[in-house]
Amino acid sequence: MLTFCTRCENEEVISSSEPGAGRYAPSPSGDLHLGNLRTAMLAWLFARSTGRRFLMRIEDVDRDRDAGAAEGQLQDIAALGVDWDGAPILQSNRREAHEAAIVALQAAGLVYECTCTRREVLEAPSAPHAPPGAYPGTCRDRTPEERAEARRRIAPRSPALRLRVPEGAGESGFEDLLMGRVTGLVDDLVLQRGDGAIAYNLAVVVDDAAMGVDQVVRGDDLAASTPRQILLQGLLGLRSPPQVEYAHVPLVLGPAGTRLAKRDGAVTLGDLAALGIGAGRVRSLLAGSLGLASPGERVTMRALLERFDPAALPRSPWVWRPED
Ligand code: GLU
Repeated sequence: MLTFCTRCENEEVISSSEPGAGRYAPSPSGDLHLGNLRTAMLAWLFARSTGRRFLMRIEDVDRDRDAGAAEGQLQDIAALGVDWDGAPILQSNRREAHEAAIVALQAAGLVYECTCTRREVLEAPSAPHAPPGAYPGTCRDRTPEERAEARRRIAPRSPALRLRVPEGAGESGFEDLLMGRVTGLVDDLVLQRGDGAIAYNLAVVVDDAAMGVDQVVRGDDLAASTPRQILLQGLLGLRSPPQVEYAHVPLVLGPAGTRLAKRDGAVTLGDLAALGIGAGRVRSLLAGSLGLASPGERVTMRALLERFDPAALPRSPWVWRPED
């Protein structure tokens, strides 16, 4: 039985005098697949090869909390030989800190209520130069009367809370260790959904800062969220690049060339174990996909650490073909 961090309600989970940290932050929705496991190995290699601590955070605010899935995920990560420091942190225990951040943004006049449905946002004409799907600002400048009326209209649903991106702050970019310069336009992102759930971008920024994370390694499908997170770091007075470094790693694709999914057959440690392929062989396979092991070679995480060179990592997705 795994224990989760019990002092995570505090603003500062880890004192800032400790060395920097990397982390892996899975969402507990079923078993991890090879793509998730490969990213976890990479996050560990990046952190350990730079003398950082390596922390685990279970991102259970966005979906229904599923502590069972989290345990299975951590067992699979451990089976590959990826270890972590301290007890894993449950994001759902961090509610107070998330709310405190929203209160701080509210005090700075940077939060407004939004009553739009997802459909209304998608169907609204977008603002000039805004990327498709960007929030067009429908609820941004309401008078108190208009706001009260909008609230009445959507009852019993509650409004979401959005960030009022300050004038001129919407264009943001960062240097990624693998992708190079990444830029993006930041719209008025959701901080808290109408159902009360804290939005991913806010929770990640607040938790990474509290955990002392100064190296974020994750799938490159999340690179587009990073400009939003960097903007939030700045507004909340938290550490941001170049004090925080980012590496967005290429995804694993299924045989059809789309993002790996359960329908692609044997994709989890459990699936592969049932075919007689143990965790050690999966580690070798994933190491091979990263150019860190030759086909069939048995390797430990320690050995991989010695060979690890971020500059030599593949920059394109790896296609998993179970029949290979
Ligand atoms: N929980 C996210 C995922 O599983 C990762 C979030 C992050 O690393 O920032 O895709």
